[in-house]
Amino acid sequence: MVSLKMKENALQLLQDKRRVCICLAAAMLLIGIGLFHAGRAVHTWNERSAQKGARYTVVIDPGHGGFDPGKIGINGVYEKDINLAIAKELKEILEQNDCKVVMTRTEDTGLYAEGESNRKIADLRKRCEVIDSCQPDVVISVHQNSFSQESSKGAQVFYQTTSKEGKELALLLQKQMVASLDPKNHRTAKANSDYYMLKNTAGVMVIVECGFLSNSEEAELLCREDYQRKVAWAIALGTMQYLEGNNEYGNLQDRSGELFG
Ligand SMILES: [Zn+2]
Repeated sequence: MVSLKMKENALQLLQDKRRVCICLAAAMLLIGIGLFHAGRAVHTWNERSAQKGARYTVVIDPGHGGFDPGKIGINGVYEKDINLAIAKELKEILEQNDCKVVMTRTEDTGLYAEGESNRKIADLRKRCEVIDSCQPDVVISVHQNSFSQESSKGAQVFYQTTSKEGKELALLLQKQMVASLDPKNHRTAKANSDYYMLKNTAGVMVIVECGFLSNSEEAELLCREDYQRKVAWAIALGTMQYLEGNNEYGNLQDRSGELFG
C-alpha cells in the first residue's frame, strides 16, 4: 500500500511539473508575441515620424494674382480670385490625405518684385523656382478659361506634350472633373507645348482649367463656395488616384481647340 501511495504521489508530482512547464511555455509564447507586436508598433511609428506625417509633396499653383487678374468673367469676377479660392480648398483636402502642400501664393499677390521690367515673366519664373526647390511629386496649376463664344464651357486639363506622367495625371483629373462636375462635358485632357510653366518645370505638372468665366452659368457656379469645394474634391480625387498608382484610364480623344487663360 505504501509503495502504491508513493507511486501515486510521484505520478502526481510529475503531472504537476508538466502542467507548470506547459504554463511557463504558454506564458513565454504570449510574452514573445507581445514583444513582436510592440516592436512592430515602434517600427511603424518611427517610419511615420521620419516621413513627418506626409507621404507626398504637392505644389498647388493658383494662377495669376496681384497686378494680373487673369481672365475677367462675364459677371466681372477675376480669375485670380477664383483660382486662389479653389486652391485653398484643394490644399485643405490634400493635407488631410498624406500630402505636404506648398502653395506658390496664398494671397492676392504676384511673385514679382515691384519695378521688375517684365512682371509677368518674373512671376512665372519665380513660380518655377518654388516648384524646383521642393521637388514635388505633382504640381497642380489652377486656372479658369475664357473664350469669345459664350457657349463654350466645361473643365479641361492640360499637360506637357512630352510628359507621360503628366498625361496620366491629366487623364485621371479630367475623368474626375467630368464625373463630378458635369457628365455632359465632352472635353478631354490635352497636350500643350507652349505654356511657360509646363515647359520650364522638371516635375509632373498639369494646368487645370476648372471652367469658362465667359459662360454665364459656369461663371456663377465658380463664384459659389460649395461649387469651388466640389471642384477641389474632383482635383484631389484624381491627384490621389495618380499618387496611389491607381491610374486606370481609357484612351480619350482630344476634341477641343480653345486656348486657355
Ligand atoms: Zn489663367
